[in-house]
Amino acid sequence: MSMKYSGGESPVDFDHRYRSPLYTEDHQAWRAALRKFIDKHMMPFVDEWEEAGEFPRDLYKKAAEVGLLGMGYPEEYGGTPVDDPMYTIVTNEELARMGAGGINASLLIHSIGLPPILAIGSDEIKNRVAPEVLAGEKVNALAITEPSGGSDVANLKTRAVRDGDDYVVNGSKMFITGGLRADYVTLAVRTGGEGAKGISLLLIERGMDGFTRTPLKKQGWWASDTAALYFDDVRVPKENLIGEENQGFIGIMKNFNSERIGLASSAVAFARVCFEDALAWARDRETFGKRLADHQVIRHKFAEMARKIAATQAYLEQCAVRVQAGETPVADLSLLKVQATLTLEFCAREAMQIMGGASYMRGCRVERIYREVRVNAIGGGSEEIMRDLAARQLGI
Ligand SMILES: Cc1cc2nc3c(=O)[nH]c(=O)nc-3n(C[C@H](O)[C@H](O)[C@H](O)COP(=O)(O)OP(=O)(O)OC[C@H]3O[C@@H](n4cnc5c(N)ncnc54)[C@H](O)[C@@H]3O)c2cc1C
Repeated sequence: MSMKYSGGESPVDFDHRYRSPLYTEDHQAWRAALRKFIDKHMMPFVDEWEEAGEFPRDLYKKAAEVGLLGMGYPEEYGGTPVDDPMYTIVTNEELARMGAGGINASLLIHSIGLPPILAIGSDEIKNRVAPEVLAGEKVNALAITEPSGGSDVANLKTRAVRDGDDYVVNGSKMFITGGLRADYVTLAVRTGGEGAKGISLLLIERGMDGFTRTPLKKQGWWASDTAALYFDDVRVPKENLIGEENQGFIGIMKNFNSERIGLASSAVAFARVCFEDALAWARDRETFGKRLADHQVIRHKFAEMARKIAATQAYLEQCAVRVQAGETPVADLSLLKVQATLTLEFCAREAMQIMGGASYMRGCRVERIYREVRVNAIGGGSEEIMRDLAARQLGI
């Protein structure tokens, strides 16, 4: 069984977005261009790529050509310099229609790898790395998480010691998206003492001696390239230091907020996909002499899903407006991420329940999204860490 997205709008009035002044003609033109690209170059192959555990490498170049990789990046590096989180929301809504978050995560992995370089890197590194990455010629991953933990970033252990004109790196990184394919790895290392103030960023390049990687198998995100990275006396030229020594944590932190808008918009968009597929099913399926959608218990499931999706979308858009106005609403962005992933968790569960056995079969978007719930709730700041951060920001 294969549930394919019709390409139409939701039958439920989630499409207030299309009438909202927040979504301008420019946003909708981008939505239309991206949808056309996805429908031609990605949607027909999603099941195949997921089963194969990878997507073709040339997809990066194709995505660059349509403007997907460069959206929001400076023109001088080949990007489209829109400083507007509404584009992120539109982009993630369109990508979510494939129901395969791992493809999005790997294809757009530079969205966490490149910003720290652009935020604090030297002009030499920026000019060397950014154009190739935004053109889809090179892949740029971000490696922070280690086998000993990912939440406690300030406590990371991979070490880089200065020796002459090089840094010598030893340690390992875990669960790194784009890890196998990466030509460039933005690597968080300890160069100083304990805590956040002892962390630097180094640019690791494919082929450096002592840098090895192994693939990891996962519950979901099958087409995503996830790897463990190992550094055994890797010599990295001092010119590959990104920003100042021991200032790397700032480079990492600067991208947290836009990453959270991205993760939240993606989670709520996947929740909407679950709603839509379950609704199409429930309108068609008959049980006990009437449409599944006519049973009150099922109708209430839809009402609850719609309620949570609409509330999350409103919170998302409110945060986006504040970010665009120059605010940094850390507490709300953290809680938004929690809200979005809980909404996704609820909708994936209810959609599977409504669709019954069919939702358990491969090739069904809801089946795949269900397997991706936890990575959304854990990655990029887990629910517990997000709540804790919000509570601290709120002075609780
Ligand atoms: C598919 C996938 C792709 C990923 N891609 C990347 C990537 O590209 N780059 C990268 O650097 N990382 C990546 N990660 C790692 C991800 O960011 C981490 O998994 C995440 O930060 C959590 O770290 P951890 O798994 O080590 O869990 P831990 O930090 O060990 O935490 C385990 C659990 O304990 C909870 N916990 C921890 N501390 C506290 C506390 N103080 N109070 C209450 N609860 C707490 C956490 O919320 C979590 O539920 C990826 C992970 C996955 C699964």
